[in-house]
Amino acid sequence: PLFRSRREMPNLMEATDIESIGANLVSDFTWKQLLDTDACTVCGRCTAVCPANITGKPLDPREIVLKLGEVAARTAVPAVSTPVSVDRELTVSADSVFERISSEELWACTSCRACDEICPVDIEILDKILDMRRYLSLMEADFPAQLGKAYVSMENSSNPYGMGQAQRAAWTDKVDFDVKILGQDEVEHADYLYWVGCAGSFDERNQAVTLSTVRLLDEAGVDFAILGPQELCTGDPARRSGNEYVFQQLALQNIETLNDLGVKRIITQCPHCFNTLSNEYSQFGGDYEVIHHSQLLMDLIQQGHLEPKGGADKKITYHDSCYLGRHNDIYLAPREVIASIGGVQVVEMERNGADGFCCGAGGAQFWMEDQTGKKVNVDRAQEAVATGADEVAVACPFCFVMLDDGVKELGNETIAIKDISMILAEATLDLVADPTD
Ligand code: SF4
Ligand code: SF4
Repeated sequence: PLFRSRREMPNLMEATDIESIGANLVSDFTWKQLLDTDACTVCGRCTAVCPANITGKPLDPREIVLKLGEVAARTAVPAVSTPVSVDRELTVSADSVFERISSEELWACTSCRACDEICPVDIEILDKILDMRRYLSLMEADFPAQLGKAYVSMENSSNPYGMGQAQRAAWTDKVDFDVKILGQDEVEHADYLYWVGCAGSFDERNQAVTLSTVRLLDEAGVDFAILGPQELCTGDPARRSGNEYVFQQLALQNIETLNDLGVKRIITQCPHCFNTLSNEYSQFGGDYEVIHHSQLLMDLIQQGHLEPKGGADKKITYHDSCYLGRHNDIYLAPREVIASIGGVQVVEMERNGADGFCCGAGGAQFWMEDQTGKKVNVDRAQEAVATGADEVAVACPFCFVMLDDGVKELGNETIAIKDISMILAEATLDLVADPTD
């Protein structure tokens, strides 16, 4: 967009004079957010691409914009003009958006950004939803119960899985070389810090991604180290669901660790960690060069440090992660990694690139049950299966789990879901059959 309206969040660990956080009253929104309500042409393109709306959930992004406009038109002081779409008979009894917008609508959002991407007049819908979630989460404690469990785990165990931090580097036992831990055993420096992420550390399916990635880095001679138990959740699920307090608690601890260890360059396989580390930590003093593993793997192939063998003879379709694609404009690197393997035919799903369809996990939905309407991951899995591909390549740990669950729910046992690092490792390294062994 031409100009952004986002507020920087206050530092909640230091501020003492915050009476309210997030958006409830019309005056809680920025001028740009309110101007958006007047600019809306009511074209409905945002609604037509919204995964929540398409699968039958009670969220219609166009209505979010229009309802905010209705409350502003009926209650703002000084008065604002009434948007064309507002019903002249409508009355709103209080200056609160929750007079017209329900929490169910807001909690259905996957934060996929498809609405913002397609809007012809650059209206930002997601930031309004997140501001309202902040109010619900922190001022009203009005959030889905399953999300509450993830919050408790993030606060008590420093990761949403509720796993013991001491287990974070347990996967290193499965590789036949030493994985350095920064700050331990006199390891003071590495060219890259490999940020494994909670899923890559604790989730069994995603440990295969971690193992493939470190084996490829080792093969290419990359000097890297991990944080091990010093790495905490980046706080992404908390921030995306409005719990700014838990987000900042985790972010500030991570930034202190990274800065104390002198970290400058970070590799991560998780687009959510990527987004948080590269775009959100700088506000709190964390400035790093962050590289997604797809970008580094592409560079290593192009520089000849990794040499995938040919003869794969398979069809692969790539599923765009919302946080890699629409949120961070990385579309080509993962495709180039799989296309570098001789014999691989890359086929596209109908909705791809900037028009890609969400897996259903973003916006902290991964930590909630998808119970209304059709499951978003099943919708996407059907589209992947329809390409006739042998494999679906992903570049996000949560897309991995969602699509793997999606094809299983369809009863499809022929299509395999794999991270790009797994596909590349199979083509490049002499691996045992099960990458988690
Ligand atoms: S961010 Fe995605 S899920 Fe949320 S309203 Fe927009 S299109 Fe719908
Ligand atoms: S795409 Fe933009 S202009 Fe069209 S209805 Fe949605 S918010 Fe309004």
